[in-house]
Amino acid sequence: MKSRWLLLSLFGIFLGYAPADAAKLLSWRFDTNQNQLTIKTDTGVQPVVKLIQNPTRLVIDLPGTVADLSQANQMVGGAIKSVRVGQFEVNIARLVIELEEGYTINPEEVKIRGLSSSQWVLDVPQPVQITESTPTVTNQEETTETSLTVNPAPVDFESRDFQVTQNGLFVRFEKREGSQITVNRSRDRREITIDLTGATLPQDLANRVIELNEYDVNQIEFVQTSETTARLILKVSEDSPDWLASYSRLGEGGLVLLPRSRTARSRESVVTARTNPTRNNYTPPTPTQTQTQTRAIVQGVTLAANNSELMINSDQKVEAQGTWRANGVYEVRLRNAQLASDFINPQMTANSPISRLRVWQESDDTVVVLVHPALGVHLDGNIEQPSEQMLILRLREFSRVTRAIDPVPTPPSNDPPLGRAWERVNNGRQTPNEKIVVVIDPGHGGKDPGAIGINGVREKDLILPISQEVARILEQQGIQVIMTRNNDQYVSLQDRARMANRANADLFISIHANSMGMNRPDVNGLETYYLQDGLRLAESIHNTILKNVDVRNRGVRRARFYVLRHTQMPAVLVEIGFLTGKEDAAKLANAAYRQQMAESIAAGILSYVRSKK
Ligand SMILES: [Zn+2]
Repeated sequence: MKSRWLLLSLFGIFLGYAPADAAKLLSWRFDTNQNQLTIKTDTGVQPVVKLIQNPTRLVIDLPGTVADLSQANQMVGGAIKSVRVGQFEVNIARLVIELEEGYTINPEEVKIRGLSSSQWVLDVPQPVQITESTPTVTNQEETTETSLTVNPAPVDFESRDFQVTQNGLFVRFEKREGSQITVNRSRDRREITIDLTGATLPQDLANRVIELNEYDVNQIEFVQTSETTARLILKVSEDSPDWLASYSRLGEGGLVLLPRSRTARSRESVVTARTNPTRNNYTPPTPTQTQTQTRAIVQGVTLAANNSELMINSDQKVEAQGTWRANGVYEVRLRNAQLASDFINPQMTANSPISRLRVWQESDDTVVVLVHPALGVHLDGNIEQPSEQMLILRLREFSRVTRAIDPVPTPPSNDPPLGRAWERVNNGRQTPNEKIVVVIDPGHGGKDPGAIGINGVREKDLILPISQEVARILEQQGIQVIMTRNNDQYVSLQDRARMANRANADLFISIHANSMGMNRPDVNGLETYYLQDGLRLAESIHNTILKNVDVRNRGVRRARFYVLRHTQMPAVLVEIGFLTGKEDAAKLANAAYRQQMAESIAAGILSYVRSKK
């Protein structure tokens, strides 16, 4: 409600020169329409609020904060006389809202809330004239002070309406027909503004700031700019990716926000801002359309709508083709598509309707999504495209009556029944005569010799027989082994990964020997690499080798090797030792040592497989 004494809106900016560790009062604003004081500091503060009588004034102290004193007074007029800012003590900034004589406020109606630890909003109730019956008036002559309760600012925020998801952010809210989304980034790249027409933010989000620190977003601010327009402001670092915003067609509806992959940034539309995006004089910048036809970036593959749908999100329209593979595995091929560089393969749990889900880049322009529905879950094989940037596969649980029967028809196939094999490894379901498939990948070969070590030993020659020995032992134990090469042949990394994926293998183990250059004979030892879900396999192999072989431990490490990135199953890369290391080179020249190494690698794989049974 507007009142006659509320004449102007004030906006002050203060740049204090503070002791190194003090917070700075960056700005404050008294909104006369809402009787609302907003305070912004550069780091978190905890205000202390007091109501002092005779004359009536509301005091907001910011401990550990400094303020500029030069523009400290603003007259408001009416019952609220003025708002003043001062340095109460060396490290306490003080804001005072002073009322005209004869007016007071009910302290119980004063509300202060932290939008974040560095932004606070104080709602000042409408001042009332002091009369004999005014309950808040004291008859005492001396000054009285009432301390008001200030709840600490939210640090973490969780809401039904705002969620940090596996691949971005989700805001749940109502939109009207024809609602439009505009995304802009400021010239200094630190602010991304998402304007939504015909949209109303939920109550718990409106005019709120959330400290996020996820996906390179420091802060997200929700502003209901009018009854029908909402704005989201993402505070980001300069070098962070841009964001895509689209409406979800699923479930209760809302806004899906996805960061663009870093690799895609150079190709995306150029966004220019016309003005410095200080919020109060912000003019939405005009995007310059320079978008060119590029591959769709696949941002996420996630379960949605209460696990009844598998959702594939991309930054533009993607062509999809679905086919059934052996043993109820459904394959979706996305053409002219590229996985986001930071794509994380989704992890399914025991309760997921999908027992196994793998996503990988099969070739330059093809992404493959492999879906193995859990027992009792039906996937009808229709790919729906509710929007340009979204594909949906529907998952339906069979009724209890039919649950015991595997509902997924097994298409006739001569391929080995690998999907079942996995289920046996994964879920402990015993199905006889089904083999686990392990790919053994001896590194390098042919024109690619790999590392050259002391005495001219070539990596490709050393590791092939070791790999073959590993394969022999595994086969003896009933495991089906696929070798990516069985002789001195060049095989591209892409083909190695492709072989494993085509075979729908359960595990992938790449075997290499290391190099540190000829000047570092002192560097020796075993390294095992993994990515995504290969950690336990890596640990099993690594620790088994350490137990049985006299080799230095250089640790299990995470690395984005091609064959680890592009394989759809737990995958590891073992560097059995340094060909350039004095100790390792001498040991690896010994046939018994190499045999021990091969046996230990195999034992590590077997121990992992058995732990999964
Ligand atoms: Zn190598």
